[in-house]
Amino acid sequence: MPDSSTPYRGRFAPSPTGPLHLGSLIAALASYLDARAQQGSWLVRIDDLDPPREEPGAAAGILQSLRCHALHWDEDILYQSQRSLPYQKVLDTLQAKGLLFACDCTRTQLDANGNCGGDCCRRQTDITDPAALRAHLPKGSVIRFTDQLQGQQTLASGQPINDFVVRRKDGLDAYQLAVVVDDAAQGINHVVRGSDLLDTTVKQVFLQQQLGYPTPVYCHLPVITNSQGQKFSKQTHARPLDDDVAAGNLRLALSFLGQPDPLPGLLQPAEILTFATTHWQRDRIPARAAIDAATIGVT
Ligand code: GLU
Repeated sequence: MPDSSTPYRGRFAPSPTGPLHLGSLIAALASYLDARAQQGSWLVRIDDLDPPREEPGAAAGILQSLRCHALHWDEDILYQSQRSLPYQKVLDTLQAKGLLFACDCTRTQLDANGNCGGDCCRRQTDITDPAALRAHLPKGSVIRFTDQLQGQQTLASGQPINDFVVRRKDGLDAYQLAVVVDDAAQGINHVVRGSDLLDTTVKQVFLQQQLGYPTPVYCHLPVITNSQGQKFSKQTHARPLDDDVAAGNLRLALSFLGQPDPLPGLLQPAEILTFATTHWQRDRIPARAAIDAATIGVT
C-alpha cells in the first residue's frame, strides 16, 4: 500500500467496445476527482486487448467524450494493443515460477466457477494448441485486500477459484494479466472503478504478490443498474452519453456518487469539476455494489 508521501497516481481504463454511457462516466469522474482532490495525476489507458469485441472508432469517441466533459488526462495514453512484449515477459516470469499451466478445456469442461475442469495441470505433455495459459493458486494460498468502499475481500485457493486465464485460447493476452502489468508499469497506486470488477481484483492482487509489484489502494464504486437490475453496458443497451449536455451528465454522476450539488450558476463542465474537486468526499459514496438509476431520476 502506498504511503501518504507517495504522489497519487490514478487512472481510467475503458475498453473501446462502444461509446461512453452514464455508468462509464461515473467511473471516469470518481477516479478523476479522487486523484485531483489529492493533487494526483490522472491517466487514461485504452484497454484494447480484445479486437473481436472492439467497435471501430470507439476509442476516439471515448476520448472526445472525456474532453467534452472537461476530464483532461495527464501523460500519454497507453494502448494495451501495443503492449504484447511486456505481457510476454511477465508470462515468462510466471512460467519460470511454475505458476502457469496450459489448459485445452472447452467452455463446457470448465467447472461452475470457471476453473479448469479437465485436470490439465496433470496432462501438460498431452496438451496441444489451441490452449489457454492459466495461473494456478498454490494450495493453501489466501489473498486479502481491503477495498475503501466494499471492505475486506478474501480469496482462498479453491474457494471458489483455483486458477484463471492469463492468455486466452485464441492467443490474446487476458485482462487479468494486462491490467496488473500496466498498473505497475504506470505506477498506478489508486484504482477507482466499478464493483463489477471487485471479484476479479483478488486475482490481480495474487499476480502482484507473485511478481513483487505493489498493490494499489482499491475503491470499487456501486454500479448503476437499469430497472431490471442490469448494469449499464453496451449489452444492456445503455444510452450513449450526449456530449452536448456534458454539464448535466456531470451533475447526474455527482448525485449518483452522493456528492453535493454544484451551485446552480455553474454551467460549464470545467466549473463543475472544480467545484466537485473542492467538495469531493469519498466517504459520501454509498458503500453498495449497485444502485438503480431511478434513484437519480434516470429511467
Ligand atoms: N477495461 C475495463 C472495463 O472497461 C476496466 C478495467 C479496469 O478499470 O481495471 O470494464
